[in-house]
Amino acid sequence: MQSAPVTADFLISAGHEGRPESCARFPERRCNLGAPGEREWTPIVADEATRVLRGAGYSVAREPADFDGHYMVRGAVFIHFDGSPEPCSSGASIGYHTAASARAAHLWRSMYASEFPFRFQPDNFTKNLQDYYGFRQVDASQGALVIELGEITCPAQRAWLAPRLLDLGQRIAQFLEALAA
Ligand SMILES: [Zn+2]
Repeated sequence: MQSAPVTADFLISAGHEGRPESCARFPERRCNLGAPGEREWTPIVADEATRVLRGAGYSVAREPADFDGHYMVRGAVFIHFDGSPEPCSSGASIGYHTAASARAAHLWRSMYASEFPFRFQPDNFTKNLQDYYGFRQVDASQGALVIELGEITCPAQRAWLAPRLLDLGQRIAQFLEALAA
């Protein structure tokens, strides 16, 4: 089952994309379909980040939620929006598995917190963020992050995010370029 790792500059995964169809191939995972509307938005952001980076000459492994194999990259991002049963109790957040990604988390926070006008949660504020399944499939020399861009179940955050999906993709591309520099 183990094949050689795929090498690329970056891996960009769109959270929940391809589910529920892909869940059958990974029965050990919870088939989390995301917050309402999240699955429609994450590919838009991921595609734009990928377009910008490829245009700048980088190689990008653009993956959905569930994918096979192992990747060796400089930076990896798993793009999500948060959802909460108590609307507007959350916001943007970052997840990472080890201290090796702390610099990446700090860099993304410094770029995004200055423009995101809502709550920014502490890093790894849920265990799911820290132990995200996708981290197991990537070795990222400069860091691998789950990026939650805001709380889609909060009307005010949703209204702020909705017209900015392409901007967010461009911002993530900038971040990855800076991370790899
Ligand atoms: Zn999600």
